[in-house]
Amino acid sequence: MLKTHSCGELTKKNVGSEVTLAGWVDRRRDHGGLIFIDLRDKDGVVQVVFNPDTSPDCHKVASQMRGEYVIQVTGEVAPRPKGTANPKLPTGEIEVIAGKAAILNPSKTPPFYINEDIEVEENLRLKYRYLDLRRARMKKNLELRHRVVKFIRDFLDAKGFIEVETPILIKSTPEGARDYLVPSRVHPGKFYALPQSPQQIKQLLMVAGVEKYFQIAKCFRDEDTRADRQPEFTQLDLEMSFVEEADILGLMEELFTAMMATVKPEIKVIKPFPRLSYAEAMERYGTDKPDLRFGLELKDLTDIAAKTEFSIFRTAIDQGGKVKGICAPGCAGYSRRQLDELNKLVQSLGGGGVVTIALGSAGSKLDALTIDEVRSVAAKFLTLDQVKQMAQLFGAEAGDLLLIIAGKPRLVDNILSELRLEMGKRLKLADPNQFAFAFIVDFPLLNKSEESGLWEPMHHPFTAPRDEDMSLLDSAPEKVRGKHYDIVCNGYEIAGGSLRIYTSQLQKKIFRLLGYSDKEVEARFGHLLEAFGYGAPPHGGIAAGIDRIVMLLVGEETIREVIAFPKNQAAVDLTFDAPSAVSQEQLKELHLRLREEE
Ligand code: ASP
Repeated sequence: MLKTHSCGELTKKNVGSEVTLAGWVDRRRDHGGLIFIDLRDKDGVVQVVFNPDTSPDCHKVASQMRGEYVIQVTGEVAPRPKGTANPKLPTGEIEVIAGKAAILNPSKTPPFYINEDIEVEENLRLKYRYLDLRRARMKKNLELRHRVVKFIRDFLDAKGFIEVETPILIKSTPEGARDYLVPSRVHPGKFYALPQSPQQIKQLLMVAGVEKYFQIAKCFRDEDTRADRQPEFTQLDLEMSFVEEADILGLMEELFTAMMATVKPEIKVIKPFPRLSYAEAMERYGTDKPDLRFGLELKDLTDIAAKTEFSIFRTAIDQGGKVKGICAPGCAGYSRRQLDELNKLVQSLGGGGVVTIALGSAGSKLDALTIDEVRSVAAKFLTLDQVKQMAQLFGAEAGDLLLIIAGKPRLVDNILSELRLEMGKRLKLADPNQFAFAFIVDFPLLNKSEESGLWEPMHHPFTAPRDEDMSLLDSAPEKVRGKHYDIVCNGYEIAGGSLRIYTSQLQKKIFRLLGYSDKEVEARFGHLLEAFGYGAPPHGGIAAGIDRIVMLLVGEETIREVIAFPKNQAAVDLTFDAPSAVSQEQLKELHLRLREEE
């Protein structure tokens, strides 16, 4: 090795010993006489001192060193002079007195500071990702990701799982997104599809008798770049035979709690994870991925609203809609501007606006509230009794602010779930040191697409219907619940899975319900149906989003911060400049011709 020690490991214990270090110049301070270099490597930073009187040659080399130069230094570890220790640095009590030094490779001036955690435009960071990854914050993110993945591998290994790699060049396995296609050179006009997940392959592994499979698996989905998605991302993918829902959920609860205790012991996790049905989650939080670190639950005000003279409420209800709301404690004094901000948020989500009802002012009694103290555009159309009934539903107090949305049920829930998060943020209700995991269960099996009017799977077409709902498949498919479960944490869906269909008869029936012709089914899923004919065991599994979990663990806002080389929001890899044009030669080999775009 070109070094005997790493920079970050040196402490008072090493005082007196000679060490050779190699790394990057984090910072250089020239004090006229002495030169100080903060030398950085993967384990940390240590101060190196170059003295012109005792080591003139070495000092001369140091005077040529600049930020990000790669250098090698040999010297003696010494305690720092009295009063100059740096308690913020693990190596802050010592320094290395350089006796020999060499520049191994100079560096151009980097496009942004490596040694400071300052905001840098993201596309610039992504273009020079190898420099961005040198920064302490990114290094920490990569390391934690490694520890999470290592924990998962060790945990599942101890439980008798084996990791099986599955192919990337395969046939489409649908998860509701568009496929990435790879043209075949050998078979003109034919294409592989990159897996949206290893779903069908892991089911085939169950037919193969593997019983306990997992994989840290890459998944590829060509989705329109929405908020925080990546064209390729990583899942903990898992499948088991001879299991019931409780087995999978129990295993995941154990995995997540043990993982937290290992990689982030300071975070609060409440066990057992609460279980909410999909219907209950929608009713109480307006979403199937609620942040359960705080209350602010939605209440249905439709019955009370129907009896008022307020036309916004009445019209919505007459059109088959709902009136629901949340209660923001202590916010009755919100200014015009604050209320406008909330209204804008509602409008950006497709709503007409939010009806606010300010309940008097804090300190007074709700019982003593008069209609003059109710501030709302709806006040004229409400009786004091109606206002109090609404307030009671929330258990509100004087000084609180009701935020009410009227409209189509799905839109109302969606808007209120966002308003709830917004108010949670404004009122700082979510404990940043808590991970509130929960299981969401009893999803409907199907969902009617608003665009096509066709049935779509809520999860994917391989999810089994609940036994007790099986008879409804023909008569009332919308009422059938699936054996599908999600795990949510702090407002994010972090895992989803299901017990699977394992007979070709039922699988065919579901495909038919989803509108596939027999020919399509044969062409796309013939292999799976064939396999089910050879003793497929009952099986089920789950997949957890590694990127999102690590993002939550390190407290980042996007998954790009925890992926070494992510695409940007336009799905471009800026480091490699991919996707990029290819030669005519390559296209010809692949039997492809590009059409001139008009
Ligand atoms: N393949 C599913 C997904 O990617 C997970 C599962 O059902 O196991 O969401």
